Amino acid sequence: MERNIVLVKHVHVSAYKIPTQTFEADGTLDWDHTILVYVEISGGGKTGIGYSYASYATAILIKEMLSERITGMNVFDIPSIGYQMIHAIRNQGRDGISSMAISAIDTALWDLKAKLLDISLVKLLGSLKEKVAVYGSGGFTNYSDQQLEDQVKLWQSFGMNKIKIKIGRNAIEDESRILKLQKYYGGKTEIFVDANGAYLKKEALYYSKRFAELGVVWFEEPVSSDDIDSLKYITEKVPPPINITAGEYGYNLFYFNRMLKERAVDILQIDASRCGGFSEMIKAINLAETYNIPVSTHCAPSLHLHVACATNIIHMEYFFDHYKIEKELFDGAITPVNGYLKPDYSRPGIGLELKKKDAEKFLYR
Ligand SMILES: [Mg+2]
Repeated sequence: MERNIVLVKHVHVSAYKIPTQTFEADGTLDWDHTILVYVEISGGGKTGIGYSYASYATAILIKEMLSERITGMNVFDIPSIGYQMIHAIRNQGRDGISSMAISAIDTALWDLKAKLLDISLVKLLGSLKEKVAVYGSGGFTNYSDQQLEDQVKLWQSFGMNKIKIKIGRNAIEDESRILKLQKYYGGKTEIFVDANGAYLKKEALYYSKRFAELGVVWFEEPVSSDDIDSLKYITEKVPPPINITAGEYGYNLFYFNRMLKERAVDILQIDASRCGGFSEMIKAINLAETYNIPVSTHCAPSLHLHVACATNIIHMEYFFDHYKIEKELFDGAITPVNGYLKPDYSRPGIGLELKKKDAEKFLYR
């Protein structure tokens, strides 16, 4: 092969519908399955993989609008492929499934590029740190006390001392669940809560004061993150030690810039499986640095690990549903030790391989 020219030979997309362990709910939504939109891109005798947790429509969009368009382009020119995809989806709108489709492809391209060079993605990008802190995330609003306790024990077995629960259905129950977490941990944990936009701004401000007294340090999406003005209002007024956080619905750099510029959050969340892949994520992390606003990754821990170690993100979300999927369906998925994840440098790319035989029963259509 000519040096630094490897053409995209084939783009293959599939989707897997995977039931959650039990029925799950947060402050504004409930669900019983997760769909993994999985992309393989081949070129130069190697195959890169990427994915998003998204609707099946994302897989259709990849098939119908992106696969052919990027076939034949140079794998090493990821920015060029990225702009080609952004132009391709122009009339559909950049946000939502369009961006999730681009994300799955972009992450597969980075995986392929690193594999062609036979190095791990973190080494291709350049390391900043060799491991990254993770926080255990789940604590669904419909969980019984026993389910909550069992999940806390799982996080404790990974040495995690930061945990996040969902809130927003019933304020009295929320407080008692926070107190239970303090009890399970003997008061020695950092508690994060996520309302998924369940509150109005005055309610959210009132609860944040209560949560601060209970030792909560992270209050995610107290109001809808679409409402930047209310988010900013709460961020300005919330008492320490609470940080207001949001960003999981950021689908492009313009969104992150607006949130940062308005200083609507204390900590920005970014999700590479939604925002446009590693390419857009790295731009957003750099942008956040110019505002001195820390970044934490949202969901899909195995996908984010290498980029997290190559950048100054403060920690990663270790989301229960995705932990289960990645552990059960991917070779190379890493579990935390003493509250940290560390990439396996001996595996090229992002170090993951789908266990196709195990995944087959979940194949969607
Ligand atoms: Mg959230």
